[in-house]
Amino acid sequence: MALQYGRPQLSIPGPSIMPDRVLNAMHRASPDIYEGELIDVTVSLYPDLKAVARTDGDVAIYIANGHGAWEAAICNTLSRGDKVLVINTGRFGEGWANMARALGVDTEILDFGQSAAVDPQIVAGRLGQDKAHDIKAIFTPQTDTASSVSNDIAGLRSAISDTGHPALFFVDCIASLGCERHEMDAWGVDVMVAGSQKGLMTPPGLSFVFFNEKAAAARKSAGLVSAYWDWVPRTRPEAYYQRFGGTAPTHHLFGLREALDMLVHEEGVSAAWARHERFARAIWAAVEAWAASGAFRLNVQNPAQRSHAVTTVLTGEDEGGRLRRWCKEKAGLTLGIGLGLSEPGTPEWDAVFRIGHMGHLNVPMVMGMIGTIDAGLKALGIAHGDGASETAARVISEHDFS
Ligand SMILES: *Cc1c(COP(=O)(O)O)cnc(C)c1O
Repeated sequence: MALQYGRPQLSIPGPSIMPDRVLNAMHRASPDIYEGELIDVTVSLYPDLKAVARTDGDVAIYIANGHGAWEAAICNTLSRGDKVLVINTGRFGEGWANMARALGVDTEILDFGQSAAVDPQIVAGRLGQDKAHDIKAIFTPQTDTASSVSNDIAGLRSAISDTGHPALFFVDCIASLGCERHEMDAWGVDVMVAGSQKGLMTPPGLSFVFFNEKAAAARKSAGLVSAYWDWVPRTRPEAYYQRFGGTAPTHHLFGLREALDMLVHEEGVSAAWARHERFARAIWAAVEAWAASGAFRLNVQNPAQRSHAVTTVLTGEDEGGRLRRWCKEKAGLTLGIGLGLSEPGTPEWDAVFRIGHMGHLNVPMVMGMIGTIDAGLKALGIAHGDGASETAARVISEHDFS
């Protein structure tokens, strides 16, 4: 007899948990797409999206997932044969590079392994060798969702700027936007991509490309611009339909409006960053408590390099897989698979799992997740240290609740 007959909890790193308010905002009759409320709601989204990204630049909205935003960013700025330098700290840099390569862009990957952040000095050294300025852009994830490594974007930008190299700086915030501090303008990010389904708490299907004037200037000579991905009509439309290159994603827009009301106008973006940091610290403390005995450990050793949106946990052989299955089938908690760190069918595949803690989460959801994993470890007889819930509760109690 299982115990999962309550509200299921999805703790994977995207899609995240959709607030009932967002779902309810979407549950309505189809609106007129030519005039009225939908147009007003759409126009109201842009300033709030820019507030989340901390930019005065532009944002184009695509009916696409994150991969679509990756492609849009490339197509609006680059040409076939251009060279880009891609930072990989897990799996997602490589994924973006694959999109670029398929479009005829020459990619060079700087790989920092599966459990550490970018070393800005290595990037600066590579740019220093590029006297001819062949490298047109640098791509990096802020958070790599496979490894749960978080890169220091401000530090990387300043190392790049110190070299005087003019390459555009692109950052993938698909996992991190709304969860982890991101200051697009202050940090000197030229192009930033995000999706609706993680920190923005809206179902998958919308993605965003934010860009500044330097990137807009690159658009003028980009050879890969195509009618559909072109960000100009989407940001300077003469008619409403041009914002989406066709029919608007009507219900997603109502959902996103509600999500941005919650994030920007009720909680506040910096309070959401603090909430995610607090929950991340509670989860790390729980994993460290389990790690006191047995094989569990955090994939990222340096706390400064850990994501506040997702945590990758390494386990003993098959323990991660057994735990995931128990939590899902017996308890109603779905944990994330170990994406990209090993191949399905190998023993390593089941020796890792991920906890998604992005978006719509509060204390009982986080404590329930930690307690459920703890119960699973006991039920399965997996060796672990004691006191995970206790230590997590202490970390949460130390939050600045003022
Ligand atoms: C989820 C994610 C993607 C891919 O987004 P899709 O919506 O699945 O296409 C890309 N980069 C990062 C960092 C992500 O977390």
